[in-house]
Amino acid sequence: MSDNFPDLAATLASIARGFHARGWLLGTSGNLSAVVQREPLRLAMSPSGVDKGELMPEQMLTIDEHARIVDGNSGKPSDESLLHLRVVKERGAGAVLHTHSVWNTILSDLYASDGGVRIEGFEMLKGLQGVQTHEHSEWLPIVDNSQDMPALAESIAQTLNEHQSAHGFLLRRHGLYAWGETLAQAKRHVEILEFLLETMGRTLHIRNAV
Ligand SMILES: [Zn+2]
Repeated sequence: MSDNFPDLAATLASIARGFHARGWLLGTSGNLSAVVQREPLRLAMSPSGVDKGELMPEQMLTIDEHARIVDGNSGKPSDESLLHLRVVKERGAGAVLHTHSVWNTILSDLYASDGGVRIEGFEMLKGLQGVQTHEHSEWLPIVDNSQDMPALAESIAQTLNEHQSAHGFLLRRHGLYAWGETLAQAKRHVEILEFLLETMGRTLHIRNAV
């Protein structure tokens, strides 16, 4: 096993506590992963049913490409592990982070009939990898939610193929997935997308109030 697991586990736990403090991972919601090694594939994965505000590095699990625990730890990997594995496979991501914020939940429902959220003209878009100007137009696809994880993983793979330049996607009335080549980049992408979704949501709210 690669020896970068302890560092990744510590960073993932730290990110979870930080996101919890922002209200993006309340209760046991959301999950986080990072690639430990690619051949064979090993992911550091947050466990199911653990309060993300109290997640500790030693609770992080190592899973294989079938979402089976391989490090002998007790605990159950997140139900959404198959979705993380699919994003890693489709995008070559080094880390995948999934949040359940109020604003991403609201906008994932509000724009569901459009199939996605168009985000354009904001300076903060430049925080997304490869984006050089605020004139960028980002399409954040929305995928219908499901409790059938293999089926949902297929829907996500199809959506990612259709939208090759997307930096994330929303699950309807559920949450945001974002990823990066590294854990630091994935964290940045979540922060940027959460900022942009909250900005759009608050703008709609103010417009409707005046
Ligand atoms: Zn979720």
